[in-house]
Amino acid sequence: MVAKAAQASLDHEQLLSLVNSMTDAVIAVDNEQLITMYNGATLNLLDINSNLRGEKLSAVLTLNDLEDKAIDLHKLIKSIKTSFVSRNIKLVYPNGEVCNIYISISPVHLSKGLELTKAYVLLMRDITKEKSLEQERDEFVSVVSHELRTPVTIAEGNISNAIELLSQVKHIPEIVNKSLLDAYKQVVFLAKMINDLATLSRAERGSLSMDIEHVNVRDLISELILAYQKQAEEKGLFINQHFDSDLTLITTNRLYLKEILQNILDNAIKYTDHGAITIQSKKKGSSVVFSISDTGHGIAKTDKAKIFTKFYRSEDYRTKSKSGTGLGLYITNKLASLINATISLESEIDQGSTFSIYVPDLDSHID
Ligand code: ADP
Repeated sequence: MVAKAAQASLDHEQLLSLVNSMTDAVIAVDNEQLITMYNGATLNLLDINSNLRGEKLSAVLTLNDLEDKAIDLHKLIKSIKTSFVSRNIKLVYPNGEVCNIYISISPVHLSKGLELTKAYVLLMRDITKEKSLEQERDEFVSVVSHELRTPVTIAEGNISNAIELLSQVKHIPEIVNKSLLDAYKQVVFLAKMINDLATLSRAERGSLSMDIEHVNVRDLISELILAYQKQAEEKGLFINQHFDSDLTLITTNRLYLKEILQNILDNAIKYTDHGAITIQSKKKGSSVVFSISDTGHGIAKTDKAKIFTKFYRSEDYRTKSKSGTGLGLYITNKLASLINATISLESEIDQGSTFSIYVPDLDSHID
């Protein structure tokens, strides 16, 4: 019995010195959110030198979102089911100074004798330097894409007019027509790249306090189909739609959801040469599942894990023949995580692909 207690105390000591040697701040709180343990890095990060044991967490830790709105830490922790991770949080010091932090909060279940008690472990790190580099890069990308947009749009319009005019003139050498068409394709590609980069920097800057609204699912899908009908018809593809009869509204960010569906639908049309595209919207608990299926090229097993990474394009010769930046699905995934949505993929080579997007209802985020 004594040996067991001594071993337990040794284990505890070892664990404490391990946590203390960490460079990240670690704080453990009980179910009442009173601090039960913390390491040296916590005192460094919070810039205090007093004993934190027994203190209420919200009394020593003040957090804001990126728009400087105060975060109700007590409420946030109570709402965590699996874990909470964010790089978009600011730690506010008593003198008003702030620093950007990475924070992860995980619930843990500790055994106290026969009883299981709930507790939480917070891990925090100062990421101010990284954030300011990221911010500079985002600002650069957003300024450059904004400045490039106007000249590229003008060039696209002018080349398109020239093609139209020349189509009415006889005896134009074939090389002129071909060169203009090539130039047009390249300018359209450039315009898409600029658009993708602008959306990417917006997605990477996304914050906790985005606009959440009640979105009418049927209206949104009809809008999408209207926008893509011509593109699909030009390839001889038909777009089908199916709705659950009881499906009306989803509470989320409309712009992000639309961009996600748009990117996936755009790909479905691009990578399908025959058949049809089907958009299905179903209710699943309080979430809505959107599935976009195509009868296209399909995605190889080895590609499935990679298509959501930056600039990745499949080696399939049919992908190579279509223009693309390899940014679409990377951005789509970023936007999905901003609205807590998840994307799954089923695909078979030469049979087609189905992308399913599970969008949770963010009703509780509406004030
Ligand atoms: P892009 O279409 O610009 O190449 P994306 O990030 O949108 O970039 O897609 C990455 C890759 O995933 C594509 O290059 C293509 O190989 C593959 N892909 C995406 N959607 C489909 C689809 N519906 N069918 C077949 N391949 C697809």
